[in-house]
Order: sequence, then structure tokens, then C-alpha cells
Amino acid sequence: MGPHLDFVPGDTVVPRKVDFVIVGGGVIGASAAMSLVEAGHSVVLCEKGQVAGEQSSRNWGWCRQAGRDEREVPLIVESLRLWRGMNERVGAETGFRQHGTLYVADSPEEEASFEAWARMARPQGVDAEILTGARLAEVTGGAPLRHDAGLFVASDGRAEPQLAVPAMVRVAKGRGLTVLAPCAVTGVERSGGRVDAVMTEYGRIECSGVLVAAGAWSSAFCRGLGLRLPQLKVLGSVFRTSAIEGGPEASIWIGKIGLRKRLDGGYTIAHSATYDTPLTPDSVRFLREFMPMLRAEARGVRPHLALRSFRELLTPQSYAGARMLDPPPRAGDGQALLGTLASLFPAFAEARILQRWGGYIDVTPDVVPYIDRIAADPNVVVATGFSGHGFGIGPGAGLLAAQLLMGREPMVGTRDFELRRFSDGRGVRLGAEV
Ligand SMILES: Cc1cc2nc3c(=O)[nH]c(=O)nc-3n(C[C@H](O)[C@H](O)[C@H](O)COP(=O)(O)OP(=O)(O)OC[C@H]3O[C@@H](n4cnc5c(N)ncnc54)[C@H](O)[C@@H]3O)c2cc1C
Repeated sequence: MGPHLDFVPGDTVVPRKVDFVIVGGGVIGASAAMSLVEAGHSVVLCEKGQVAGEQSSRNWGWCRQAGRDEREVPLIVESLRLWRGMNERVGAETGFRQHGTLYVADSPEEEASFEAWARMARPQGVDAEILTGARLAEVTGGAPLRHDAGLFVASDGRAEPQLAVPAMVRVAKGRGLTVLAPCAVTGVERSGGRVDAVMTEYGRIECSGVLVAAGAWSSAFCRGLGLRLPQLKVLGSVFRTSAIEGGPEASIWIGKIGLRKRLDGGYTIAHSATYDTPLTPDSVRFLREFMPMLRAEARGVRPHLALRSFRELLTPQSYAGARMLDPPPRAGDGQALLGTLASLFPAFAEARILQRWGGYIDVTPDVVPYIDRIAADPNVVVATGFSGHGFGIGPGAGLLAAQLLMGREPMVGTRDFELRRFSDGRGVRLGAEV
């Protein structure tokens, strides 16, 4: 079971015709929905399970610029700006707090790579600093570190995934958004060379544009449109603790452990040394594009057979029995992780594990998202493949997708997010880790 999630009820009346249909009620669909209804459009958001039931409620809640691939930096800067005004915009608690992100360096080599990242990011408006000595101790609370250096971005923040996306959808509903959930979009209809309707489990809806924000299902959905979209699923495992006093405020990455303070005073914690990826028909279909990632063993992506392998082999594209992806977390070393943390931050000695969960992350071959119009269906926009870091960038990415759908000037360049980048000779340029 995933974490407890603020429930957004679906609507019962299905509009016959709207301006736009959004496929997927995660952070991308939610953010795009807000932007589209704020611009005065009629919009239906279809979610096959529960709003935010998959990745968008299962993530760590980091809203970080730190360590991003340079291709995502302009969009994440814009997203952090949106996060800062989010509580006010949605009139509710999203949990967003600006307490910074710290990546602790393990070695002089890692410190040098952080310095190089900071040199790239600063001219783009990111307040990246390399902290050492007393300034580093201020953020860590004096934790004994192997190497005295860390990359710190003070303007980064954290938010509560189980509150934030439902709050975005609720405010959009209040402004006219129709939410159909649980309701899968099963296909599209075309006339005159354009998509002019979607088929849903509740019936047909005419529209002048579609946003595919279907997370880990986007590749299968796009296959139905005739579009090849390389994407794989990777399992992330997380746990949360009881409330503790005196732990760090900043989100901290240290020795492959990520920790983030929660509004309830506990912490969301995960270890990312290894990512399990179930072997599925897509693993074979997209092997060519994913080869560079598989070769880069340091990324720790571990293909293996899982229940999901057989399900996708036997029932491709089926929602039966998998209305919501709810994979069991990796069998665990949570207690050992807490022990390690307690040796660094004594406050964790009091922490108890309250819940564990798993989530499938949708990954692209270069771990950079797709945000683009489909060439053959220019009134269909795809925004997906956020590769383990789409929650923080979600507000900006949803807005960007909405701008493309409305035919407006995009707020940042989109060339690096194009769908055709692996087939037009550019090759795969691997981004920062998943
Ligand atoms: C364990 C874990 C930790 C993470 N940590 C972070 C983090 O700290 N910071 C960060 O920035 N990112 C993080 N991420 C990544 C982040 O959660 C995702 O990138 C982001 O939530 C993706 O949002 P989305 O809207 O694209 O997809 P999703 O949230 O997966 O939403 C897609 C939705 O589409 C629906 N759908 C699919 N097909 C259909 C259909 N045919 N009809 C109707 N609905 C459909 C699905 O049911 C789903 O709800 C993490 C992810 C995981 C799993």
C-alpha cells in the first residue's frame, strides 16, 4: 500500500465536448490542469485510478535544483518559483517549505564534480554553494563526515506529495475542471488528420487537444497512437519514520541515503544504491536506446524478473488487476539505514519506521523528460518520463505542457525535451542519475 493520500472525488457528469483532455492525474496532469483552467479553457482530467495514486504520492518530496541535469535547469528554476507561491495559489497546505538541499561529497573527486555543477548552474540563477567547515556543520548539525564538503542550494525546498497534487486538482476543480476518476482513457479518434476525441471508460469526449501525462503508462498509451516512446519502469523503495526532535531541516543526500523532513515531524527516507527494473517486453523493445544506461553500471540499474514482467507479457496495456501500480518495496534494510543515520544525526536514534512503500519510476534513456507535441498529431502533447525527479519540476513542466497545448510561446527552450531526440542522430546523452 502506498502512503495515505488526500482523496479527490471524481465528477459524475461527463462533458460531451471540451477544449482539452488530460490523460493522467499525477503532478504533471494536475499542474497543466491548473494552468489550462486559469487560462479560461474547459478541461477534463481522466485518471484511471486515484488522483496522485502512483508516483506523485509515493515520491520523496524533494523539490530540488541541486544536481539536476543542465538541460532541466531553466525549467526547474521556473518550477521553484511556482512552488514558492503554491500554497497561496491553491489556497491549501502543500507542505512546501524552503529549507535547501545538501549533497554531501564522499571524496575530493565528488567535491570537484559538485564544483563543476555549481559553475554551470550559477549563471542560470541557481544559488549553488560549496559548503565546508562551520557552514557545512550548520546544515548537518555537526554530523561526522568522511569528507568536509557539500553542494548546498538554499532556495531548494520540500513538499508533501500526498497533499500537494490533490490540492492542485481541487483548486482546478473549483475553477471548472472536470475530474473523471477512476476512468481510463482507452484511445483517440481522428478526423481530418487531427485527433478530435478521446475514448474513455465513461464514453467519448470531443476535444481540440490532448495531454498525455500518464507517467509509467505513457509508452503503452502512445503505442496505441502509433508513437514509439522509449520508457522503462524502475522500482523505488521508501519508508517514513515517527516524528523526532532536532533532525536536519534541509533535505540531505549522504552516502546514497536520501532524507527529507516531513510536515508531521517524521522523515521520508530511501537508499538508492540499486534500482530494480522488471524485465518486460519494453526492455527488449527499447534495448537499443537504454544500452548506454545499462552499460553505466555505476547507476546501479538492475534488470530482473518480477510479477510485473509476466503481467506485461500476458496482458499488454491492460488496466485489469493493475488499476494502480503498487509494487512491494524492496525487501529491506530500513533498520540498518536508521542505524547509519543515527551515527550521523543522533536524533534518528529515537526514530521508528512507520510505513514502507514502493513506486515505479518512469525512466527515459537519458533520464531527461519528454515534453513535446507529437509530430503526426500536433494537437497531442506528451509530458512524461521524469525519471525519478518529476515532482519538483512538475509545476513548471505542467505549465510548459499547457503552453504547448494552447499554442503559446513556451517559457523555456524545448529542444532537449523533444520526442525525436533518440532517432534524429543526436544519440543518447546520459543525464544525472535517476
Ligand atoms: C520512490 C520515488 C521517489 C521519488 N522521489 C522524487 C523526489 O524526491 N523529487 C522529485 O522531483 N521526484 C521524485 N520522484 C519522481 C516523481 O514522483 C515523478 O517523476 C512524478 O510524480 C511523475 O509525475 P507524472 O504526473 O508524470 O506521473 P504519475 O504521478 O505516475 O501520474 C500518472 C498518472 O496517469 C494515470 N494514467 C496512466 N494511464 C492512464 C490512462 N490511460 N487513463 C487515465 N489515467 C492514466 C496513472 O494512474 C497515474 O496516476 C520519485 C518517484 C518515486 C517512485
